[in-house]
Amino acid sequence: MTKRNRLLVFLLICVMLGTGVLMIFTGLKPNYQPDMVAKKVDYTYRDFAAKHADIKDGVIVLAYHRILKDNQVVNFAQRVSKNPQLQEYNVSQAVFNAQMAWLKQERISVWSSDELLAHIKAKDIKGKHVVITFDDIDTTLPRNAANVLFEKQFPFTFFVITGQVGKNLDGEQLASWPEIAKLSQRPGVTVGLHTNDLHYQVNNQPVLATHQVSQRDMIKDYKQSRTKIKAQLNRQPNVFAYPYGRANKTLTRYMMTYGVKGIYLLEPGIVTNDAQRMQQQIPRFIITDQNFKQLQDWLVMK
Ligand SMILES: [Zn+2]
Repeated sequence: MTKRNRLLVFLLICVMLGTGVLMIFTGLKPNYQPDMVAKKVDYTYRDFAAKHADIKDGVIVLAYHRILKDNQVVNFAQRVSKNPQLQEYNVSQAVFNAQMAWLKQERISVWSSDELLAHIKAKDIKGKHVVITFDDIDTTLPRNAANVLFEKQFPFTFFVITGQVGKNLDGEQLASWPEIAKLSQRPGVTVGLHTNDLHYQVNNQPVLATHQVSQRDMIKDYKQSRTKIKAQLNRQPNVFAYPYGRANKTLTRYMMTYGVKGIYLLEPGIVTNDAQRMQQQIPRFIITDQNFKQLQDWLVMK
């Protein structure tokens, strides 16, 4: 290496080190995005029944997002092609109807949210039960799913993003207030909260799981969601579901003190009598077109 080349290499190293030091001091980070894939839950629920054969008393809470008619499945896939994760949450109407028919046919007990909360509190869950929930409330709940639920007299709960009602959220058309009001008047229907306007992600992280929202703003958002439901539906919801299932300790503490009796997550798990603080971290299974079979096997297992 010539003297000149050595000098060049030396300068290059200086520049690289300098940049590194500068990045540390200015808080600049290399283009790093938190890896959601690593944290991603395995939605196949493979071997679920076998793994939980010893649990005889428990509740499975089903979480649905969109129930799509065949022609909508294609349209939806095209609209959200940039966000393939959203598609995993779709269930086709035919599959949904078959799932509900199966619950009826096997005489699986379907509880309302209030029944679930009462049994969690009393720690007296006996046998196996199911709770049916929907997040976001897009138009497919009133249009494609509600009728079969009413027909079978299955109670269900839906969680409204009060600040987004009627809007388009990441390609899904959310139901309007009149549609939501109509549903909420039916027996067996529970209306829950899903934040007023904190249902979005920053750098692939649900905003409530970051430090980007102050305690004050979080609480303000929660109060706004209550006020809107009261004004629109004349209801005082007692359940909340975290957007994307990611909890925030401060908000949980506040809500459990002021009005909320149950908080739902999206971690799969069975609600049992022996779990601690179950009311504020109720597990749920995201249902897809494929994974229901695993849960069925457990539900009918003696
Ligand atoms: Zn949601």
